[in-house]
Amino acid sequence: MPHVIAHGGGVWSIAVPIPDNPLGHTLVHLVDTGRGPVLIDTGWDDPASWDALNDGLAALGTSAAALHGVVVTHCHPDHHGLSGRVREASGAWIAMHAADAAVVRRTRAAEPGLWLDYLTDKLERAGAPEEHLAPLRAARSAGRSGGLPGLRPALPDREIAPGELLDLAGRRLRAVWTPGHTPGHVCLHLEEAHPARLPGHGRLFSGDHLLPEITPHIGLYEDPDDAAVTDPLGDYLESLERVARLGPAEVLPAHQHAFTGAPARVRELLAHHEARLTALLGLLERPLTPWQAAERMDWNRPWERIPHGSRNIAVSEAEAHLRRLVKLGRAEAVPGSGPAAYVAV
Ligand SMILES: [Zn+2]
Ligand SMILES: [Zn+2]
Repeated sequence: MPHVIAHGGGVWSIAVPIPDNPLGHTLVHLVDTGRGPVLIDTGWDDPASWDALNDGLAALGTSAAALHGVVVTHCHPDHHGLSGRVREASGAWIAMHAADAAVVRRTRAAEPGLWLDYLTDKLERAGAPEEHLAPLRAARSAGRSGGLPGLRPALPDREIAPGELLDLAGRRLRAVWTPGHTPGHVCLHLEEAHPARLPGHGRLFSGDHLLPEITPHIGLYEDPDDAAVTDPLGDYLESLERVARLGPAEVLPAHQHAFTGAPARVRELLAHHEARLTALLGLLERPLTPWQAAERMDWNRPWERIPHGSRNIAVSEAEAHLRRLVKLGRAEAVPGSGPAAYVAV
């Protein structure tokens, strides 16, 4: 039985499984328009996920072939993975924010081993010990391409312009640029009144930006060719305030479940990151590399029990928090340190 929920007012969600992932599934949303159904996100590119999406569409009385368009909240493979198959089946357009479309273009153009080289180099500069780097070097010399999923994600053919209404017949769906989780993440604000008249302003498709029970990963924007010093955590916190100001009556996220009370959830997340920044600042009484900071920060389990791949994610999360402290003038890089160490000022 496909896992389909009717949210009212011509909006449904289909739970599309993500293989071998604790998140479980992506909630793909279907929005009826005057020119046919439009999807918000598509799900992971896997045969079982594709079947689940098709079963869900069939349960809603439609099919992949009938889809008019795909709006992608961000470029991650659990959201954009099946966009190419949807386009093949239907000729649907695919819309994405320019900053994430650039990530897709880069991913498609990259030689497979490049990602491993980049990851190894980045971890080395973050102060990762040799025993952490050795398996990456071994994988590279064995010719494996590393963990970059979705090497040929579909190229979007429409750009989502921040602040503008999408061209959807009979609907008012406005793009809200919410960088942080990725540089081009967007939320989609369905400005029509809530179908059950819940108090607030319409509904917000929040992608990974605002989730009811978990915090999205905030790392560094991964562009090996761009030397610009970005501040993804700063972007994220600002984007959170942006969606709180919309005051949506209900949030339809891409994972977990729909929820109300967006401004309160935003306050929780702001407080969570504030507490993490304060704790990290306390650790920086003496200089620490990003790796050493990650080892000492609080995670959902002790550092010794965090597996290799998750440590990479933890280090980029630590770096995002260090960047934020530097940007706020609360910490600085120790001159001449290599790998770079940071200390409170
Ligand atoms: Zn994501
Ligand atoms: Zn996701």
